[in-house]
Amino acid sequence: KVKFTVRDLDLFYGNFQALKNINMNIEQGKITAFIGPSGCGKSTFLKTLNRMNDLVEGVKINGEVTLDGVDIYKDFDAIMLRSRVGMVFQQPNPFPMSIYDNVAYGPRIHGVKKKSALDEIVEKSLRQAAIWDEVKDKLKKSALAVSGGQQQRICIARTLAIEPEVILMDEPTSALDPISTIKIEDLASELKKNYTIIIVTHNMQQAGRISDKTAFFLTGEVIEYGDTE
Ligand code: ADP
Ligand code: ADP
Repeated sequence: KVKFTVRDLDLFYGNFQALKNINMNIEQGKITAFIGPSGCGKSTFLKTLNRMNDLVEGVKINGEVTLDGVDIYKDFDAIMLRSRVGMVFQQPNPFPMSIYDNVAYGPRIHGVKKKSALDEIVEKSLRQAAIWDEVKDKLKKSALAVSGGQQQRICIARTLAIEPEVILMDEPTSALDPISTIKIEDLASELKKNYTIIIVTHNMQQAGRISDKTAFFLTGEVIEYGDTE
């Protein structure tokens, strides 16, 4: 099943065209990797899928992006869209608060107040992110006081807690050591059973290890897209 359709997408930062005529169907329940050299538009394209760049000054977008057939630029509120399309960044970026409060942050914004309900979401999300056993005894401690790899899995748990359908990952392992990298890769492979995952990487081996589909970017264009194999 197709999750996103992208039709004739162009994106300009002022006069500079960062994306040129992109057409792509992104499938549900798979891992799609975007690869290509630095500065070729991978991150820009990723952010058009949850509208993280169209509100930036000077950005102009032509074309159409749909999520489950609905135009995300015309028929979605950006905040609502981002609760369905979560994002994980290159640098682990936990909020300067406890591990518990990081994961409870989204559900609280969405109105979950009862402690028992929040406890349940926090545990479930940390388990899904394969970090529960490592942090269950220090949930009240600062999320900044654990390793980078653990911080990244806490950030993934924070995203999972809002129950998105899609998880966008922008080079989620490039700031991490090799062992933490493998943990995140294993986690992504596990999560694709229940989520659609799109991962930006400049690492061909990583794309080969975990993705089902790969798109190659070069200077703002997708020059090849198909089964990773
Ligand atoms: P990649 O993720 O492939 O490294 P990016 O999407 O980050 O590439 O960037 C694509 C191009 O757009 C680059 O030339 C970059 O300098 C430019 N760019 C990215 N963000 C902005 C911005 N906010 N304003 C102007 N130019 C930008
Ligand atoms: P309180 O416990 O008083 O309700 P919060 O849980 O809202 O406070 O915030 C705890 C700390 O996290 C504060 O220092 C706050 O500034 C910081 N913080 C809250 N939201 C964010 C955010 N979105 N990004 C970064 N820091 C945040």
